Amino acid sequence: MHQKRVPLRMCAGCGESKPKKELVRVVRSPEGEISLDLTGKKPGRGAYVCKSADCLRAARKARRFERAFSCQIPAEVFDRMEEEIGK
Ligand SMILES: [Zn+2]
Repeated sequence: MHQKRVPLRMCAGCGESKPKKELVRVVRSPEGEISLDLTGKKPGRGAYVCKSADCLRAARKARRFERAFSCQIPAEVFDRMEEEIGK
């Protein structure tokens, strides 16, 4: 069988490369708001993380999203994303 090449993205938490479908996009909107993009359709710059609160927390601790988006991210934004991703 012919295998399709799947585009891989790196998780900002554990650093593993996985198919986009297995990851969740974290997006910075043109207005500068950070949120989870569970539909994959939000406009803005994106970073990827496994669909896991552990990876999100690891990325938070290492300040990977701050670096990816060159901005400060308030604690309540992370808290909300952790709650959303855990569902
Ligand atoms: Zn991960």
